[in-house]
Amino acid sequence: MTTAAIIVAAGRGQRAGGRVPKQWRALAGRRVADWTIEKFRGRVDHIVLVLSEEDQGAWDEFSGTDLILTQGGSDRSGSVRNGLSALDAFAVQKVLIHDVARPCVSTQIIEQVLDALETQQAAAPGLAVTDALWTADGTVVTGTQDRTGLFAAQTPQGFHYDAIVAAHAAHPGGAPDDVEVARAAGLEVAIVPGDADNIKITRPEDFSRAERILGTDMDVRLGNGYDVHRFGDGDHVILCGVKVPHDRGLQGHSDADVGMHAVTDAIYGALAQGDIGQHFPPSDPQWKGAASQIFLRHAVELAGHMGYRISNVDCTLVCEHPKIGPHAPAMREEMARIMGLRADQVSVKATTSERLGFTGRSEGIASLATACLVKP
Ligand code: MG
Repeated sequence: MTTAAIIVAAGRGQRAGGRVPKQWRALAGRRVADWTIEKFRGRVDHIVLVLSEEDQGAWDEFSGTDLILTQGGSDRSGSVRNGLSALDAFAVQKVLIHDVARPCVSTQIIEQVLDALETQQAAAPGLAVTDALWTADGTVVTGTQDRTGLFAAQTPQGFHYDAIVAAHAAHPGGAPDDVEVARAAGLEVAIVPGDADNIKITRPEDFSRAERILGTDMDVRLGNGYDVHRFGDGDHVILCGVKVPHDRGLQGHSDADVGMHAVTDAIYGALAQGDIGQHFPPSDPQWKGAASQIFLRHAVELAGHMGYRISNVDCTLVCEHPKIGPHAPAMREEMARIMGLRADQVSVKATTSERLGFTGRSEGIASLATACLVKP
């Protein structure tokens, strides 16, 4: 069963204030759209991002990624139709249509909607209205509206792909959401339980509310790594991706980058995905002399596929010589480059072991690392 999500991100979001559309505004350290996209990564097979032609920066940024990009239409329905067309060649059976301005959507809701499509023609989250509802003339109450049977509509709204494509093709336009389009085509739409935290960012004050919600349900993971390589003949060592001249070299199956190995293992550790030796067996000749950035890149990509981003890494090198301090800035830059992070997210520091033990006797270099991974 092939699944997809269409994230509609072409709107201009005037009511939320700010100089840029709300989906590109910062929210808890990322942008609204980044949070929303992340919620669907790993939960559907394909993600379509519908973008305005005015958001050139986003086109540049996301092209060549795992996202399918397509241009927005003249209104929301037009954008959804373009999103559906972009999935034409992917043999999708179930499609979720989601507003980019709902970054707090839970994975539980996404799964409930997908599950409901096993037995239903369409499904969408709805929240039973619990507040009393008034009618008013300006700011004066003129009556009370019966709330029985009223639900607040949320997204993602889920459909069988062929059915919603046909429903959109037949609809005259102007529908506020895709449930209405589906109903107009005679489809029955089941309500799955919505979530009060699945707010749509609409007004300026919604940003701080969304930040509070996102801050409470993050999955934060730590991992540690430890590695040792012994000295042998040579005229340099590779530490954290940087070639450092030395009167000895480090021995190992790969390039023996002890610092990068510890960081790589820390990331695997945070993901509970074993260690370097498991992913790149030393018995396999293809890794002989390999550049360790192959291992680090693999760990970073695995984190991304599992929905985690790396918040920071901290690496300590333990040796008497060579002196690390002069090279530490270059090591941080190089590790950040390989991991796609900023240098201020990467720490490389060093200590001696007071001439004690194997590192003190300069028999080899040890390294310890910690990685912090975050899943929204
Ligand atoms: Mg190693």
